[in-house]
Amino acid sequence: MNIRLRLTLWYTAIFSLILLIFSLAVYVGLSRNLFSTVDNHLQREVGEILGNLDIELDDDLEVSDREGRQTEFKLTYTPEEGVFWRIFDANGNTLVDPGYLDGAQFEADLSNHEFAQLENATLANGTPIRLYTAPFVIENHSAGVIQVAESYRHIQDVQTQLIFLLLFGIPLTLLASSAGGWFLASSALDPIDGITRAAHKISAHDLHQRLNLNLPNDEVGRLASTFDEMLERLETSFEQQRRFIADASHEMRTPLTILKGDVDVALARPRSAESYRQTLEMVNQTTDGLIALVQELLLLARSDSNHSALKLDRFNLSKLLTDLASGLMPKAVKKHMALNLDIPEIMVMEGDKVKLRRLFMNLIDNAIKYSNPGDSVTVRANVQDGQIRVDVSDTGPGIAPEHLPHLFDRFYRVDKARSRIEVSGQSSGAGLGLSIVQWLADIHHGQVTVESTVGRGTTFTVWLPQKQSQPLFDDLESNGVK
Ligand code: ATP
Ligand code: MG
Repeated sequence: MNIRLRLTLWYTAIFSLILLIFSLAVYVGLSRNLFSTVDNHLQREVGEILGNLDIELDDDLEVSDREGRQTEFKLTYTPEEGVFWRIFDANGNTLVDPGYLDGAQFEADLSNHEFAQLENATLANGTPIRLYTAPFVIENHSAGVIQVAESYRHIQDVQTQLIFLLLFGIPLTLLASSAGGWFLASSALDPIDGITRAAHKISAHDLHQRLNLNLPNDEVGRLASTFDEMLERLETSFEQQRRFIADASHEMRTPLTILKGDVDVALARPRSAESYRQTLEMVNQTTDGLIALVQELLLLARSDSNHSALKLDRFNLSKLLTDLASGLMPKAVKKHMALNLDIPEIMVMEGDKVKLRRLFMNLIDNAIKYSNPGDSVTVRANVQDGQIRVDVSDTGPGIAPEHLPHLFDRFYRVDKARSRIEVSGQSSGAGLGLSIVQWLADIHHGQVTVESTVGRGTTFTVWLPQKQSQPLFDDLESNGVK
């Protein structure tokens, strides 16, 4: 059963129930109201009759002794037309009876001298009457019982008319309301059908398509635009993946081609043991570069799939930076460069030691790699308001402003030709280092910025909070490396 039909059926069922309760309430309320008008009228009439009735009682006799005695009475009031009445004395003998109620069928007890009784009764000719039977008292003695009645046929007529009206009206109203319900459900659900049809046509291969349904900004309109936004994100993400795979394959092909070339040359003719050793050394170096590249790719792939929880530790960042600098010192010395440290003795922070080591290693390694002999690299650090600031500066060639916005993109290199040559040399140079740096800063809730002047040098600044306040998984998705 589709939603349209279900909604209409539910709507009709609920509406029927409401209509039924409402009709019952109207019927009962109206009947009660009409009967109480009649009852009030009868009570008024009783008052009038008794007020104008003069009954002579013999005071010398007790009530029980008055049986059979003719009591004098005089009535100076004429009851309204249509009002039937009669009076009995305390013993149930007729005192005065114009004959209206002769043969009437009723249940009231005439010997009851305490409570008035109201009932529906019938006259001998079948007329339905409302009968009021009330005891009355004269001079503190119970003097008799009066009965007053009036036909309630007009109430029965109203009730019958109302029942007819409801019997015809309710089905008609239900018919009209379910048609309205069907129309409303259809107009609310039609756009959703439209979205389903449009979405059906979009496959993984044409993610550039959009629903573009131009709906008003209501719930369904927002659903359609959210769907379009999701397609946009999917397309971007698919595109990123595609580019990543293409770039990664391209990066790997270069060293592999070099490897193949080296091996082909070595195998072309018999060579000396020394020549084979040289070839193997080149192969070894290139393989090292490939391993480093694959490791970086793996790291980035993990950053995409959020499998990179941090192992939080409290440690002395100063010691980590000092150790790192002494590890990289031989490389700097080999290039005739100075590597200076300007950091406090102790800077305790919370973070993933291994990942932060990698972050600073990438920055210092870049500074050494891209500077020239005679240049110097300085690592400065201090603590400001619970944030640790680390500057890695060099006096190298600097980076032109047009490259700065792309520096942290994956596979972005300023000078592609130079990096390629380095692939066969000592480092991978794939253009992944800085994107890894940014990702590592992000997952530590930190930041990394760069300032550079061509010809004067470059400074990378890393900000890291001393304490990690929130679980780190939440932010991984939004902060994944671009
Ligand atoms: P990888 O780090 O993956 O081995 P890479 O060093 O080429 O390769 P990144 O570290 O991301 O990649 O650096 C991107 C580019 O930014 C580099 O190719 C280089 O041109 C430029 N660059 C980075 N650091 C410096 C620096 N300190 N001085 C000048 N240029 C730099
Ligand atoms: Mg690098």
